[in-house]
Amino acid sequence: MIVMKFGGTSVKNAEAIKNVIEIIRSRNSKAIVVVSAFATVTNSLVKIIDSLKSNLNFALDEIEKVHLIHKNVAEDLNISYEVGDIISLEFERFKMLATAINVIGEVSNKSKDLILSYGERLSSKIISIYAQKSGLNSAFLNTSDVIITDDNFTEAEVDFAATQSKIDSILLPMLEINDVLICGGFIAGTSDGIITTLGRGGSDYSAGVIAAAVNAEILDIYTDVDGILTTDPNLIPSAKLIKKLSYIEASELAYFGAKVLHPKTIFPAVKKNIEVRVLNSFNKNCVGTRIIGIKTNQNAIKAIAFRKGTTVINITSNRMLGAYGFLGKVFEVFKKHETSVDLVSTSEVSVSLTIDNKFNADKIINDLSEFSSIDTYDNKAIISVIGEGIRNTSGISARFFGILKDINIYMVSMGASEINLSIVIDEDKLKSAVELLHKEFFSNELDSSIFEELKR
Ligand code: ASP
Ligand code: MG
Repeated sequence: MIVMKFGGTSVKNAEAIKNVIEIIRSRNSKAIVVVSAFATVTNSLVKIIDSLKSNLNFALDEIEKVHLIHKNVAEDLNISYEVGDIISLEFERFKMLATAINVIGEVSNKSKDLILSYGERLSSKIISIYAQKSGLNSAFLNTSDVIITDDNFTEAEVDFAATQSKIDSILLPMLEINDVLICGGFIAGTSDGIITTLGRGGSDYSAGVIAAAVNAEILDIYTDVDGILTTDPNLIPSAKLIKKLSYIEASELAYFGAKVLHPKTIFPAVKKNIEVRVLNSFNKNCVGTRIIGIKTNQNAIKAIAFRKGTTVINITSNRMLGAYGFLGKVFEVFKKHETSVDLVSTSEVSVSLTIDNKFNADKIINDLSEFSSIDTYDNKAIISVIGEGIRNTSGISARFFGILKDINIYMVSMGASEINLSIVIDEDKLKSAVELLHKEFFSNELDSSIFEELKR
């Protein structure tokens, strides 16, 4: 049994969906297919949510646009007869919901999730009806019935035990009579049946959760790029395909900026030792990236990831040297403001750490100032080189810092996993720093069992 996940661009229109059905057919295997919302839809839903209180007319116009996207795809797939009424009814309800929320003047996270669920609920329904009509032995699966979460709406946490029992009692029997089940990613449900979502980009994670629960042989994440690359090709056009990565390399990479894979995706797969692949639904000739349990190569840096929009906060203890409890107090503040910290480095009396500038640093600084002195630096970027090879290859740090000798470095951190070396620099030096590093580590004699030039 395999699990396949298709992202929003892979199902962006009728032509792309037909291609997806061909891919599923060609795999010739029992399969659970997890699909995202059609490209752009979730972003539109977020805009609708943001305008509901203040601008109902705008929201209603946007809802109509989203309606049209679905109606047109159904028409182009020639299934208006089968799904036209379902789509119209859903959008009538959506408009009523929007109007009601506007009157009440309050958008709860519960309502947000109901709205956010429209994208995946409809894409999965439409694709599933098209699959059946085109002769695939398949059925629609309502993900909210099988992925069970807590009620932390918009960022719900999966209850793995409850999910397992639903997968066993609902999903597996369906798979006995159907070759393929088609369901939406991102959406889930509480134990009493209320719709939740798993956080933006969460469809990868849904696929990971399902793959683990059914003990899939493989989890294939289909997207619109050739796989995971040595760095972002928008910045460095000569970026190369990484054919093999270990689980830990892949998750560090996802966490530090590679947008191809949601950082949480592979945790469920890791536990069951399921191979994860990242594939391009528009390029069947590309082998993609395999993410596997074993260490792939001891002597290589696999990738350079980066994140912009970072703020560095330096915190110096006001109290005497050696006072205990300082770090505890520092992290309490970040917890209180629900702000995640990316990099940390400490000395005896001070701590430097970074946060994403989407978080509000002012309140944090206020609280920290009660017991320490604070300096902050905005407009910074994190660069991380990632690879199992960092742990036991001497000379990597020397090359790394040598090549960056003319760039001012604000902070250094060697990941606790020892497979990532990260620095903080000025955002406007990012491109030149990544160029230098990519040239240093990915120009000569690359192991062809790991890296491949992209055919463009
Ligand atoms: N449609 C959702 C989003 O855009 C989930 C996903 O595509 O993974 O965030
Ligand atoms: Mg996505």
